Amino acid sequence: ATPTSIMVGTGRGAELGVLFRKGEALQLLKDAKVVAVDKTGTLTEGRPVLTDFEVAEGFDRSNVLAKVAAVESRSEHPIARAIVAAATDEGLSLSSLIDFQSVTGMGVQATVEGSIVEIGADRFMRKLGLDVSTFAETAERLGREGKSPLYAAVDGKLAGIIAVADPVKTTTPVAIAALHQLGLKVAMVTGDNTRTAQAIAQQLGIDEVIAEVMPEGKVEAVRQLKATYGQIAFVGDGINDAPALAEADVGIAIGTGTEVAVESADVVLVSGNLQGVPNAIALSKATIGNIH
Ligand code: ADP
Ligand code: MG
Repeated sequence: ATPTSIMVGTGRGAELGVLFRKGEALQLLKDAKVVAVDKTGTLTEGRPVLTDFEVAEGFDRSNVLAKVAAVESRSEHPIARAIVAAATDEGLSLSSLIDFQSVTGMGVQATVEGSIVEIGADRFMRKLGLDVSTFAETAERLGREGKSPLYAAVDGKLAGIIAVADPVKTTTPVAIAALHQLGLKVAMVTGDNTRTAQAIAQQLGIDEVIAEVMPEGKVEAVRQLKATYGQIAFVGDGINDAPALAEADVGIAIGTGTEVAVESADVVLVSGNLQGVPNAIALSKATIGNIH
C-alpha cells in the first residue's frame, strides 16, 4: 500500500473507533486467518456474578460463604468481586484474615478465624491433594450451563462448590458472525474450565477452544495457532493477555481493558467491544485493495 492509502485507512479507522498504533497492522490484518480471542472481558462482560453455591456434608452454607468472601475481599480478580457481592447481599459480615496468598492461575488462600481457607479452580484443589469428585455431577451441569465452577476448602477438607457466570457482551455474536463472513476462523483462549469454555464457544459458534491455559500459556497458544493456520490476530483486555498480544502477528486490545494490554497492542478498539475487529479487517482489505 502507498503511504497515502495507509494514511487514509488509518484516518478511516479512527472514525470507526479503531486506532492503529502501528501502520503495519493495517497492512497485515487482511492476511489474518484466525482471530484468537481471550474470553473474560473480551467475549464476556468481565463482570461475573455468583449463581450457585453448594456446601459439602457437614458444612454450614453461611459459614463457608462468609469465610470464602473474607478471603476474596483481598483479591482483585473479577471472580472475587462476585463472591464478596453475594456474601454482602446475604447480609454476612466478613471476618478479618491473615496470611493472604494469591496463587497465579489457580486461586487464593488465607487464614480466617483460625481456619485455612482455599478457593479456586479444580486444578488448585488437585494441587492441594483434594478430591473434587463428590461434586462431579454438579460441576458437569454448571459447565454445560456456561458457568465456571470453583471449589472451596476449609482446613484441608473440600467444603463447597461455587459457580460464577459472566454474561456474553451483546455485541459479541454479531462480531463473530462478521468475522466468519470475512472468511476467518475464531478461536477462544482462556484460563477458564474446558467444559465452561466449550459451552460458551458452542453458543457463539466459535471454531476452536484452547482452555485451562495458565497466564503464561497464552503465548504458547498463539504460537500453536500460528503454526497451524498462519497469520494470527489476538484480541484481549487483561494484564495476562499482554505477552500474547505481543506474540501475535497483530495484537488487538479492547480499549476499556488494562493499560498493559493497550501498550502491548498494535491496534486499540476504542468502542470496547469485538465489533471493531471485523471493522479493522474489512478496512485492511479495502485499503490494501485500493493501492495504485
Ligand atoms: P482468567 O483470566 O481465566 O480468570 P486467571 O489466571 O486470572 O485467568 O485465573 C485462572 C483461574 O484461576 C480462574 O478461572 C479461577 O478458576 C482461578 N482463580 C484465579 N483467581 C481466583 C480467585 N480470586 N478466586 C477464585 N478462583 C480464582
Ligand atoms: Mg480478559
